[in-house]
Amino acid sequence: MPTQSLVFLGAPASGKGTQGRRLAEFGGFSYLSTGGLLRTALREGTALGKEARPFLDRGEYVPDEVMLPMVIEWLGALKGAAILDGFPRTLAQAEALDTAYLEMGHPLPHSVFLDVPDEELRRRVTGRLECVSCHWVTSRGAFEVCSKCGGKMAPRADDEVVRFENRLNEFERLTFPLVRFYEERGRLTLIEALGSPEDIHTELRLKILL
Ligand code: AMP
Repeated sequence: MPTQSLVFLGAPASGKGTQGRRLAEFGGFSYLSTGGLLRTALREGTALGKEARPFLDRGEYVPDEVMLPMVIEWLGALKGAAILDGFPRTLAQAEALDTAYLEMGHPLPHSVFLDVPDEELRRRVTGRLECVSCHWVTSRGAFEVCSKCGGKMAPRADDEVVRFENRLNEFERLTFPLVRFYEERGRLTLIEALGSPEDIHTELRLKILL
């Protein structure tokens, strides 16, 4: 049972979801995708979904005041270590996360940065489908139903070109500085995430789970 949580940093389509979820299953971590949680809330029309919708529609980040209570509540029920996919995304979120872990008396999370060039991100995003139920991701044409839960596979609305470029800008402006934040604290592992999903998973296991 792992004791230190991991946060996955990376641009949209860098493989955070695929790799984070797979490593969580392999290593016995709990798993949280904040983007997945938001898209479920949107689909179900909850108060959170209504609040988040205009931001997701524009490909912008949802404000920290909305994200923080949501994640802190999730952490409150956490047993053991977690993989957080897509959180933190801003310096305020990273600082709040460290504070929450200190208060819980758990080791501070380690970060994994999946580094992928922009051109490859753009290539990947045109071909991906996500399960509307469990958020499993595949490339277009691979499966019509989700191989994990049998749900419907569909393109993500925010993968549309203009929204995707906004998300990429948000990443560079607000999230990329977190690489430095974790590096300065000696809590960063960089992965050049350009190979096959299988090779990247193997590298993660070697570098992270030793
Ligand atoms: P993802 O599935 O991780 O690509 O997230 C999809 C979208 O959800 C992002 O483009 C943001 O609009 C929103 N989102 C997810 N996580 C966060 C976060 N930690 N802070 C702000 N917005 C978020």
